[in-house]
Parts: sequence; structure tokens; C-alpha cells
Amino acid sequence: MIALMRSVALGAAVVLALACAVGPVHADEPIEIFDAHLHYNWEPKPYYSVEEVLALLKRSGVTGILATSRPNTGTHALMEAKPPGLQVVPFIRPYRVRADIRTWFGDPFIFDLVQEEYKRGYYRGIGEFHISGRDAEGDWVKKTVDFAVAHDLYLHAHADDVAVEILMRHNPRARIIWAHTGFGLSTDRVAEMLTKYPKLWGELSYRSGITDGGGKLTAEWRALFERFPDRFLLGSDTWINERWQSYGEIMAGYRAWLAQLPPKTAAQIAHGTARGLFAER
Ligand SMILES: [Zn+2]
Repeated sequence: MIALMRSVALGAAVVLALACAVGPVHADEPIEIFDAHLHYNWEPKPYYSVEEVLALLKRSGVTGILATSRPNTGTHALMEAKPPGLQVVPFIRPYRVRADIRTWFGDPFIFDLVQEEYKRGYYRGIGEFHISGRDAEGDWVKKTVDFAVAHDLYLHAHADDVAVEILMRHNPRARIIWAHTGFGLSTDRVAEMLTKYPKLWGELSYRSGITDGGGKLTAEWRALFERFPDRFLLGSDTWINERWQSYGEIMAGYRAWLAQLPPKTAAQIAHGTARGLFAER
């Protein structure tokens, strides 16, 4: 009797699974994500092999990446892989080692590195680089911004709002992807920045306040997404191995709040804006 019940239950499950598989609407299909903040560091070996990373991205429904690496070796490897079904958008990382984070903006060697790396011909941006407050006023920072503008490159800046304003002042034609969108900066100030600088996009890794403790999209972020639907990007920020280990959860976290937005807005944030910015030239 138990065996019979089991087989009936199994039969029902198979029918249900088939119905889902052949149905025309895949309501549960995870929304495609463009990961606009991926580090594939190579110091001296990557945490995951290229094959493992590509499999992880595929499993996670990620179809595009803004790829950077310290040193740039990891980005070269991803480009050479030419993975089908994945758009790899390479950015020049202005770092050789982690310590460069604190000194690159005063280091002429780094500007040489950027120019040398650019010769590969495939880069779309420079970053992620770290800069805060008036450190952004330095000559080498201005040279970097000007170089980016002259070569049609985006900047990927981990910066406070003060530094973003200085970068924009260096060259008003700069196009900046704002890593972490100010972390905990007020949404009023974020709105002010997005209004003042039409070529500024906010990347949302480690950005606080988007959801409340229960995972519900907060009113202020819902309002911001409604007001600026095409100014935000998602990212994993795989800066340490722990981020690779939790990669699937990070993407699931994004999908949980994207599902609370109108589908068009969700798709725009999940991949639409990145696809537009990084369309083939
Ligand atoms: Zn980062």
C-alpha cells in the first residue's frame, strides 16, 4: 500500500514536472543578471579555474560581466576563453598588488601600466579603483580621467561622493560607474548626484538600505528605482574568496528584491542598463 501511494505520488510529480517543462510561460526562470563588479584576481592563481568560474556564472544566470583582475592576468584569461553566452567587458585594473589601492593615485608607474595595458585594444574602462575625498585632486588622477575620456573608456570608481564630484570636475565628459553607490549615503544625496551627473551610474554591491530586515524593498529605494530606472547596475564584488563561495546567494539576494519591482524595471536594473552601456562599438 505504501509502495502504491509512493508510486502515485511519484507519478503526480512527474506529470507536474512535465507540465512545467513544456508550459509556454517560464514564470520561475531566473532573471538574467549582468554582474557589473567582478574581480577575477590572480595572485598568483585564481580561487576558481576559468572553467569553474564560467560554470558558476552559467549556473547563476549571469550572462555578462564587467571583468577586472589584480593583476590583469585574470581578465586576459577570461577574454581568451571567449565563453559562449557570456559577454565579457574588460576593465583595466590599475593595481599590481593589493597595496596599490592606497597609493596608485600618486604613482606615475600606475599611469604607465594603464597606458600599456590599454594597448591590448579590447578594454572598455578603467577600474575598479579606490579614491576618497580630496585624494582625487591629484595630477595622476586627472591624467587617468582624461585618458579615459580620450579613449572612450568608463571609469569604475569606489569613491565617496566628494571624490566622484572631483573626478567629474577633472573632465565633465567622464562616464563613471559608481561602485557601491556611496555605501550608506542617503538616497536624497544619491538622487542629487544622479540628477547632477547624467553620466553617472550606481553599482549596488554592498549598498545598504535597499531592503529592510525582512527582505522587503524599502520605500526610499523603490522610489529611487522608479525615478532612475536606467541608472543602476548589479555586481558581485568578488574581492575575496568568500564572495566566490557565496556567489549564488548574492545573485539570489538581488533576484529577491528585483521580483518586488515591475518586470520592466527589474530587467533594466538586472541587465538592460549594462547591455546598453557596453553594446559593441
Ligand atoms: Zn570591488
